[in-house]
Amino acid sequence: MQKKLSIMEIERFAIHDGPGIRTTVFLQGCPLHCLWCANPESQKIGMHLLYFAHKCVGCGACYRACQYEAISFENERPVFHREKCVQCRKCEEVCISNAIHFSGEVMEVSDIVDRILRDKEYYKNSGGGVTISGGEAFVQFEGFMELLKQCKEHKIHTAVETCGQYSTEKIREVMPLVDLFLFDFKHTNAQKLYEYTGGDLDQILANIQYVASTDPTKIIIRVPVLPGFNFDEQSLGDMFDKIVEYGIKNVHLLPYHTLGISKYEQLGRPYTFASTTSVMKEELVPYKKLGENKGLKVQIGG
Ligand code: SF4
Ligand code: SF4
Repeated sequence: MQKKLSIMEIERFAIHDGPGIRTTVFLQGCPLHCLWCANPESQKIGMHLLYFAHKCVGCGACYRACQYEAISFENERPVFHREKCVQCRKCEEVCISNAIHFSGEVMEVSDIVDRILRDKEYYKNSGGGVTISGGEAFVQFEGFMELLKQCKEHKIHTAVETCGQYSTEKIREVMPLVDLFLFDFKHTNAQKLYEYTGGDLDQILANIQYVASTDPTKIIIRVPVLPGFNFDEQSLGDMFDKIVEYGIKNVHLLPYHTLGISKYEQLGRPYTFASTTSVMKEELVPYKKLGENKGLKVQIGG
């Protein structure tokens, strides 16, 4: 039987998701709910209605087309009552301004692999491959395993961007099929991590430690640097110490950006992370030095 995956997007020619030129497959579903998440439409599996207010010309066609009273029309703009929406996509169809878009699609694994293979020559020439991201890839475990297997059959380099929130049994199964883990590490304070992300520090550390002890060359730690959460010497220093303790060499510091905030408006959801100011790359230079002084190879940006 064919295996399927719910995806948010497939991005070609990605250059920040691992070595070389890559195709990044964004899967849906995530066990965490980080307050700053830049891809909130990937957190839940399914189709999600996005409304781009800046494109809307107020024609009212969507309101007239909706047979389920899921759209009202106020001040010459549509107001969406998402709890009534049955996802018939009529509004998307009639909107000539492309102000309404449904995100989320179910695809056969073999069709995803066909898309990946289109750029095989680029991978070969640049040392690239495929990166499976999300959401969290491990949520759709069977399809994810199948995708990795088929990529390996075609000798494609595989990277997985992961938050680490799943059983170590799963990562053990996946390990032979993955060439590189881009592993998120956000805080060493269990209470704070739970409060801001819903994550379980012990579980995440157990998985980081498992990969590092099995093959430390297969892991790059990625630290999103977030004002009011971990953007201070104590928090980053503690994380660096843990990374050194696990024998890992490579760390990427990813400065917080605000590009994801508009997606919350498009989804009709509030943005609850307190900071709305981006971190500049230059601001991370002292922290890069802090990590390097502890023997790490630190890169600013992905
Ligand atoms: S998808 Fe269908 S039910 Fe939902 S808002 Fe649009 S027209 Fe209404
Ligand atoms: S159909 Fe599109 S442009 Fe017209 S009111 Fe609806 S969202 Fe706006």
